[in-house]
Amino acid sequence: MIRLTLLQALTFYILVFLASVVVAWLFYVVERGLHERRRMHGRIRCRFCATVFEDHSSEVLTRCPACGRLNMKIKNERI
Ligand SMILES: [Zn+2]
Repeated sequence: MIRLTLLQALTFYILVFLASVVVAWLFYVVERGLHERRRMHGRIRCRFCATVFEDHSSEVLTRCPACGRLNMKIKNERI
C-alpha cells in the first residue's frame, strides 16, 4: 500500500482532475474541427461575388451559379 500525506493526496487528485479536463477539452476541440470539416465539405465561396454554393464534383474549376465566373477549389479553405 502506498502511503500519502494529505498534501500529496490533494495534489494527486487535483492533477488527475486537471488532466481529465484537458483531455476532455482536447476531444471537444478535435471533434468540433471534424464536425466543421464535414459540414463545410463541398461548399465554395465565389471569390468574385462571395456567393456560397455547393459543388461536389471532382472538377478543379467550378462555375458560380450567381455570377457565372470560374472559381478554383482549394482544399481546407475556410468559408
Ligand atoms: Zn460568383
